[in-house]
Amino acid sequence: MKTHNLGFPRIGDNRELKHALESYWRGETSQNELLETGAHLRKNNWECQKELDYVPVGDFSFYDHVLDTSWMLGNIPARAQKTGGSTLDRYFRTARGQSAGDGEDNQISAGEMTKWFDTNYHYIVPEFDPSTEFCLDDGSLLDQVQEAQKAGVNPKPVVLGPVTYLFLGKAENFDKKTLLKKLLPEYVGLLNRLAARDVEWVQIDEPLLVTDLDNDWKHMLKQTYQALANESVKIMLATYFGPLDDNLDLALSLPVQALHVDAVRGKDQVPDLVSRLPEHMVLSLGVIDGRNIWKTDLNTLLDQLTPIHDQLGDRLWLAPSCSMLHVPVDLEIETGLDTELLSWMAFARQKLVELDLLAKALNQGRTIVAAALEENAKALENRKKSPRIHNPGVQARLAQVDDSWGERNLPYPERAKRHKEKLNLPLYPTTTIGSFPQTKEIRSLRLKFKRGQIGLNDYTTGIRDQMKSTIEFQEETGLDVLVHGEAERNDMVEYFGERLDGFAFSRYGWVQSYGSRCVKPPILFGDVSRPQPMTVMWIVYAQSLSEKPVKGMLTGPVTILNWSFVRDDQSRADTCRQIALAIRDEVLDLEKAGVSIIQIDEAALREGLPLRKNQWEEYLNWAVEAFRIAANGVKDETQLHTHMCYSEFNDIIDAITRMDADVITIEASRSNMEILNAFDETAYPNEIGPGVYDIHSPNVPSVDFIVTNMKEAAKRIPRERLWINPDCGLKTRSWPETKESLKNLVEAAKVLRAAA
Ligand code: GLN
Ligand code: ZN
Repeated sequence: MKTHNLGFPRIGDNRELKHALESYWRGETSQNELLETGAHLRKNNWECQKELDYVPVGDFSFYDHVLDTSWMLGNIPARAQKTGGSTLDRYFRTARGQSAGDGEDNQISAGEMTKWFDTNYHYIVPEFDPSTEFCLDDGSLLDQVQEAQKAGVNPKPVVLGPVTYLFLGKAENFDKKTLLKKLLPEYVGLLNRLAARDVEWVQIDEPLLVTDLDNDWKHMLKQTYQALANESVKIMLATYFGPLDDNLDLALSLPVQALHVDAVRGKDQVPDLVSRLPEHMVLSLGVIDGRNIWKTDLNTLLDQLTPIHDQLGDRLWLAPSCSMLHVPVDLEIETGLDTELLSWMAFARQKLVELDLLAKALNQGRTIVAAALEENAKALENRKKSPRIHNPGVQARLAQVDDSWGERNLPYPERAKRHKEKLNLPLYPTTTIGSFPQTKEIRSLRLKFKRGQIGLNDYTTGIRDQMKSTIEFQEETGLDVLVHGEAERNDMVEYFGERLDGFAFSRYGWVQSYGSRCVKPPILFGDVSRPQPMTVMWIVYAQSLSEKPVKGMLTGPVTILNWSFVRDDQSRADTCRQIALAIRDEVLDLEKAGVSIIQIDEAALREGLPLRKNQWEEYLNWAVEAFRIAANGVKDETQLHTHMCYSEFNDIIDAITRMDADVITIEASRSNMEILNAFDETAYPNEIGPGVYDIHSPNVPSVDFIVTNMKEAAKRIPRERLWINPDCGLKTRSWPETKESLKNLVEAAKVLRAAA
């Protein structure tokens, strides 16, 4: 039995890659220094994987592996092709764009970014059009193969498969599938060149095999692997992020020498795979969770693997379920977690140790690793029984929840009348999504407080001053519904996690989000409850400064869940319900404190959708239920808002409607309000604030632009139900452009009201 890995985190133990990239981009270090950091990181990664039989090569990237694939295949967008600087500079320009005045004449737009399957990693979307040609440039990969051989490991190059590569790209008014025949010769060339370098196995990733595929895509997979078969290397076809389900037969029918499957999320498919595995094929089981941070139950796993090993012998390989890109690097350096929590977890390096233990136990018998197995069993037992995980109060309360907890008393039209009486808002009310610019001043205040350089009083006073000037600005400008500006928050999920029981925060548990950007997801390890109010004091303060309503501002349970590492000992649905109860407590406390409008952001509701359509309904059912529990305990007089910053609603509009928020604010400006087609009168009955300008850009929208957008909106939604607001929060913007933009927004509302 052999072991291998699909990919190791690129960022380094201390986010060396991030620091090296950013200092290179600032012009502070040379390209050589950056290249050296890259080489050093790869070497370190291979060093800690050297116990494996095969080590991934090509998993490292200076920005993104999908972008690397585009470069390797010579598919470089025209706008970046003939620009100055080195190849690496052009590569970064494809990813990040370039603003005019960077010493270059033209502005170049950044590559589009989107989420890699259902992870929080973002890749640069390949661009295809009828003139797309490919031209293999595998120099970098071949160099890395050589580098790995010198480092004394057995390299297994990892490449993104041609079918998934096409699948992930965008093509306007053009059938990108037709490009396959141009693409295949490049892959054939690549395999031959790798074989010439003494490479035995190549891992070709086709994660699209865990999604719903129509016949065209299935046919393309067949065509592809027939074309690639019989080249001089062996192919391991890698699938991950879910079971193969209806694509299982297809996967087994492809002429490849090995198939890797996700045996964590796709555990149930394993017996079927084992019994149907063709004689010539190796089965690689991804048994160690590459998407979460908990220790593997090694003993139970060995019980399950032993008969499979007996049956398959050396045709069984073991690996993590997917690339470990999605978990933090090393638990050993962690200082933010206590020893008990640490004893329950495994980051990337620890997962390699687990893999090694499994291999030893299967190949040489369990006694040789008996002590380690016993320790593993103890840690798991301790976690199972820990009073830190199980809170009987939370369990008892959950048992009481019934449908009525998620229901408002009156239907929306009746509630709307009460809101009108109570709030007396004008036609086209104006508001913002919550955050105002997070200035240097705010960040340094927070840092000083964290470091103990200033006390709680000074910190609170400093933050209050920020809120005061934010409220004053909004009053001067004439916005109708104000916000406190979120100066007290570092991050919309972390802020709540830090105040809830059941969450822990690592100090170094970074995971790459895109390019040099890393996130440190909260770790949700136990039953969730709210020991005390989390936001009431700030909102009450902000409200005390104005006669106008100030929105209470919360993050919703689904978003908190989707942006955290969550427990694996109960369903996501149950965990989500627990968070919902904690947020509900906060909502009711805000209401009690006199807050008349409360917004619950669900920025990540859509991205939590399962990869398979037939699982959407189940997810949406519990996700919407959780939102309803969190939100709908309020009195009819209270106006409940939600916010979602994306612009695809057609396929989830029923679920959005069931949430029954009085007002939903959404991203709309980039689609010129076309997204509102999903919200037409019959589909969505409540109020909507379609974002009238894009907050990702520093451009100030003109009054005309906003008026035009709102007129478009009013063609689809009766104006009595429309609000005016930006696409999303303003925390990444600067004050000058924020002021100009919001002045124009208020001006536009006046124009529209006068014309009404
Ligand atoms: N209230 C948050 C803000 O304004 C919402 C952020 C988001 O939707 N991503 O920053
Ligand atoms: Zn948003």
